[in-house]
Amino acid sequence: MDNESGLVVIIQCEDVLKRCSGFLCMNDFYAREGKFAGYPENTRYMSISCGGCCGNITVKLENLSMRLRKANISKDSVTFHFASCICSENSHRLPCPFMNRMKALLQHKGFGNIVLGTHISKKAQAKRDAGIYRKWE
Ligand code: SF4
Ligand code: SF4
Repeated sequence: MDNESGLVVIIQCEDVLKRCSGFLCMNDFYAREGKFAGYPENTRYMSISCGGCCGNITVKLENLSMRLRKANISKDSVTFHFASCICSENSHRLPCPFMNRMKALLQHKGFGNIVLGTHISKKAQAKRDAGIYRKWE
């Protein structure tokens, strides 16, 4: 395995995952669309759920840190994406009220590369533009 290539980690909402398979996040990653445009071809990805309200991902981050260390992968080569359903209003829910808390936890654990968003739904974006949904945060 090439440990010099980047790793994208998508954080998805535990609540939304009860209704969503996460397919569109995965598909946009491989198509390099939405917020994944521009990643080099050899970038790998994985997804995790937030662990449920109130976004207590600390234990998962500790586990990931340990796995990265053992695999000799630098945290600087990891980029976290909050799924669009966490950071913007959409058909599933309002933005997550604990997103900033999760961001602070990531930074505290040494993960500095954080992107807001993944798949951009055309329907949801049209509703944001029309003022029906809250603007993208
Ligand atoms: S952004 Fe869309 S596809 Fe991705 S987890 Fe949220 S609802 Fe599912
Ligand atoms: S903490 Fe946020 S992302 Fe996680 S389940 Fe609750 S609302 Fe969803």
